[in-house]
Amino acid sequence: MNQRDVYEGGCACGAVVFRATGSPLRVGMCHCMTCRRVHGSAFGSYAIFACGAVSLTGSTREWQSSEQGRRHFCPVCGSVAFMMYADRDEIDLPLGAFDETGLFEPAYELWCTRKEPWLPRGARPEYDEERPR
Ligand SMILES: [Zn+2]
Ligand SMILES: [Zn+2]
Repeated sequence: MNQRDVYEGGCACGAVVFRATGSPLRVGMCHCMTCRRVHGSAFGSYAIFACGAVSLTGSTREWQSSEQGRRHFCPVCGSVAFMMYADRDEIDLPLGAFDETGLFEPAYELWCTRKEPWLPRGARPEYDEERPR
């Protein structure tokens, strides 16, 4: 496997570390109110991997942020760690939690009804709410 196919990241204090292997299933941004609040930022951005492609070290706390979604965070520093789902075999790794910049570029944006008006429009496909599956 190419060296470039292993991506590492984790929380701000280093207690939670993840390692993703291979390519993400997709990469996107989300402007929904939960992502805004979780990140304390204007939007969330994620590389979504199959659960089997990601290994984790360190323990997290979690809370149910939607009907099927659970957000995991580091109990020491409180950083967003990742998001998992009850109904699909995927894990959302926040782009800002990776050790390097410039690894992945989002291909779409969700919940653009909540998008800040000062963000650029039309850079990639934009969905009013969720992305149709
Ligand atoms: Zn931490
Ligand atoms: Zn969201």
